[in-house]
Order: sequence, then structure tokens, then C-alpha cells
Amino acid sequence: MKRMLVVLIACLLLVGCQVNENNSNGKVDVVVSTTMLADLVKQIGQEHVEVTMLFGPGIDPHLAQPTGNDTQVVYDADLVVFSGLNLEAHFHQIVDAFSDKTLLVGEELEESDLLVSDGEYDPHYWFSVPLWIKAAKLVAEELMVTDSEHKSDYESNLNAYVADLMELHEWIEGRINEIESDQRILVTAHDAFNYFANECGMSVYSVGGMSTDSEVTASSVNEVANLMIEHEIKAIFVESTVPLTSVEAVLAEVKRRDFEVSIGPELFSDALGTQKYAQYVEAIKYNVNSIVESLK
Ligand SMILES: [Zn+2]
Repeated sequence: MKRMLVVLIACLLLVGCQVNENNSNGKVDVVVSTTMLADLVKQIGQEHVEVTMLFGPGIDPHLAQPTGNDTQVVYDADLVVFSGLNLEAHFHQIVDAFSDKTLLVGEELEESDLLVSDGEYDPHYWFSVPLWIKAAKLVAEELMVTDSEHKSDYESNLNAYVADLMELHEWIEGRINEIESDQRILVTAHDAFNYFANECGMSVYSVGGMSTDSEVTASSVNEVANLMIEHEIKAIFVESTVPLTSVEAVLAEVKRRDFEVSIGPELFSDALGTQKYAQYVEAIKYNVNSIVESLK
């Protein structure tokens, strides 16, 4: 711990001369926390950025702990983009030490756009496509400042990507409408889908809390089981970054009462996937298709 602090303080003293300097390959070195942000920065930055992400697919950002290497890559970066709103709950020290070159996207969004749960801002705003469009604009603005030489490229990449996101937004609406209105209930393992549900007129219930380290209690398992039976909900969804146990507890309870529920496909929640699912648009389409096919 002491060593980490010494490193951080040394970094603090040096950080001023690191900002806005492009590396020898001529690209802007951007360090991001999540897979969602990695895709967003690549979409806007294209050939002008080199993106390093701290949390890969399947890594839970609520629980991820910083390593010495994380401190080093952040120190070396030209720009750092974090999701904010306490998603990267164990990275406050690093964020504070490098605040000069760090964009905390969530903290720059309008307060009125954010959902609050148990007195805290819900950090899962990437599931709102309109908010992700705002996030794209924030990232583009930051790249334009860091690398003003390629300002017009960032601008046109942003416009093209916003058009893709708007198309995605409309497509989601159309697909969700295929589910009977009384079946538009999404039951998941942790509370990541409030923004998504809010936007497409679904209700959402989760067995766990907003952070994956919140405890799953017998009463919350019972509550969700009751709800599924009462509304005859066909599927409960598991998530790529959350262990199966809480979902299995609900399934067992539902089965005990002679009701059939299936486990829906694994949804991407706090991390995107690999290959084509490393792209936000593809991962969201996958989620929506999975939800619609399981509930309609
Ligand atoms: Zn989460």
C-alpha cells in the first residue's frame, strides 16, 4: 500500500507534462475502463487513437481492483476515459491522481438524465441509447481538445456514429413492441437494466442490487419468485459478468411451487463480449433479440 502511494505521488508530480502529448506512433493513447468505452473511443477516434482497456469482457467493473500495471498504463496515457458514477468503485485513488487528463463520462451527463436508486446515481447509463449518444459527444469533445489536429475527423466520425445509434434506438423500439404489453417485464440477476427498461417501457426486477457486491437475501429471492409466478413471466436472464447463483435460487423457488420458468440467454450487462460483440451496437442488438425471443 505504501509503495502504491509513493508511486501515485510520483505520478502526481509528473502528470502535468504527460497530458496532451502524443506518443511516438503519432496516435492518442487512450486508456478506458470498460469494454463499452473501448468501443466508443474507437468509433470516434478510429485510426487516430490507440485504446487500452483495463476491464476486459467478463470482468465486473464494480468489483475490479487496480493492479500496479493499471497505474502504469494510466500514467502513460494521453487521455483516460472512465464511466464514473462509482462504477469503477475501487479506482478512486487512480482517478483522483490523474484527474487532469481523466474524463468521467457519467459525471458530465445532466443530472436530470440520471436515474437514482437507493440514494445513489445508477451507473448503468450505457443502456440508454440517447445517453450513449451524449457520451459519444463528450468523448469526441475531449479527443478534439487532446488532438486538435484531427478535429474534423473526430467530428465526422461522431456524426456517423450518432446516426448509427439513432437507428439502433428506433430498431429497439420496434422489437420491444413485439412483446405483449403485460409481458414486458425483465427479471435479471443484478440491477443493471433500469435505463434500458425505462426507455422502452419495460418494468425491471432484479434479485441483486445495483452493485454486484450487494447481498442477495432470501426475501429478495422470494419476492422475485412471487412476481414471476403472478405475472407468468417466461424467462429470467443471466448476465455475462454476474455469477449464476442468485438466478438459480429464484429458479429453484419457482420450481418448488410447480411453475415453469426458463433461463433466458446470457445478457451483456457491465461488459460487452468478444469479436463482433465487442461492439456496443451488436451487443445491444443481441440483448434485445434475446429478450424479445424469450418473452414474446
Ligand atoms: Zn452493474
